[in-house]
Amino acid sequence: MWVELWVCVMAVEQTLVLIKPDGLKKSLTGNILTRLSETRLEIAAARIVRVTRELAEEHYTFLKGKPFFEELIGYIMGEFHERRKVMALVYHGEGAIQKVREICGATNPEEADSVSIRGAYGRITTSGVYENVMHASANPEEAEREIKLWFTPDEIVYHIYPVKDGELKNVKTRLWA
Ligand code: UDP
Ligand code: MG
Repeated sequence: MWVELWVCVMAVEQTLVLIKPDGLKKSLTGNILTRLSETRLEIAAARIVRVTRELAEEHYTFLKGKPFFEELIGYIMGEFHERRKVMALVYHGEGAIQKVREICGATNPEEADSVSIRGAYGRITTSGVYENVMHASANPEEAEREIKLWFTPDEIVYHIYPVKDGELKNVKTRLWA
């Protein structure tokens, strides 16, 4: 008798997670990281970032032209939550994109599964913007574009995308005094 054994092999991926300013203001960082640890994925990078207009507009470049775009940029820059920062993380492992999106929940917090992060903690503002607590990349192409936007190769502990040697000349930086 033949027994067919189907083994589902998931691709090893990486995904960008942002804990948005409302997530920080509502003290949800620990909660979100605990929920994400259920996935058994590895954290490959983490940083707290002050979001410039340039970074915000580049991150949401595909939404330029949407009626909510300007408010979305203000939201991710922290203009409405007295928190001018977000927490950015890279998660790495099998099926990372789908596993994190599942815990994150649907874009619209009213439609998101109520046990998902967005379903439990998100809200829609009176002007219609979805304040949905966290961001998660939607597919491998988006993940690569976003991770390269938020992190340099040296800030990520795994070798995930090809790198090249380069040299920075005449770059001013701040050093410890
Ligand atoms: N957004 C919104 N209204 C919409 C669609 C999107 O306020 O009708 C905001 C929301 O904060 C969302 C972000 O824009 O998370 C990016 O939208 P996208 O369609 O990429 O959804 P996501 O990938 O975040 O689920
Ligand atoms: Mg998206």
